[in-house]
Amino acid sequence: MSASILVIEDEEPLQVLLRYNLESEGYKVRHSAQGEDALYLVGEEKPDLILLDWMLPGISGIEVCRLIRAKPEARDIPIIMLTARSEEAERVRGLATGADDYLVKPFSVPELLARIKTILRRVNPDAVAEQLKAGDLVLDRKTRRVNRGPRDINLSPTEFRLLEQLMKNPGRVYSRSQLLDTVWGRDAFVDERTVDVHVGRLRKSLSRGRETDPVRTIRAMGYAFDERFGRTG
Ligand code: CA
Repeated sequence: MSASILVIEDEEPLQVLLRYNLESEGYKVRHSAQGEDALYLVGEEKPDLILLDWMLPGISGIEVCRLIRAKPEARDIPIIMLTARSEEAERVRGLATGADDYLVKPFSVPELLARIKTILRRVNPDAVAEQLKAGDLVLDRKTRRVNRGPRDINLSPTEFRLLEQLMKNPGRVYSRSQLLDTVWGRDAFVDERTVDVHVGRLRKSLSRGRETDPVRTIRAMGYAFDERFGRTG
């Protein structure tokens, strides 16, 4: 699984606990301790899901929720609210600000993980699917294996993540800098040409001889997984 989760939580121990448990489950985690920064991150990174604390310094969680829902590009991102007291939970229920779910602190981590999985499965099946498939190409997230028909494809960890990212959203064009951020990580100091080198290697591994190349190069823009791959001959 490589769904990304934005945690908006100001209590450091809880933030550490959440990050640890979410990363152990394979999620990519970003964190913000306050609403203003979080709103920026929501627009920038389009997380697959948001965990939002009710009581935040500065603008409140409920206001953050309302503002996220007002952004056209973020309207559909599921939000789970974390509330400190049961009466707040009542208010969350009553206000119906657009949160998809809520949990009252202290909550159990397995319960939270189960709720996250349920929501992600509903809104974005590919984000939690164990396998991504297109035509004769199968990427298995659990075993970290890639197969093309009967053929095992050996990929480096970077190339695996690159293929996974492209396959998650067939047809979506990723710029080199977007791929650097999502595959290599925001803090990595690598040149954009590194992306080209790895895409080149990935292609070589995926397609031998007359096999169709599933990766498209979009001039001056970047790369995409061919959404027609496997559908047409
Ligand atoms: Ca708080």
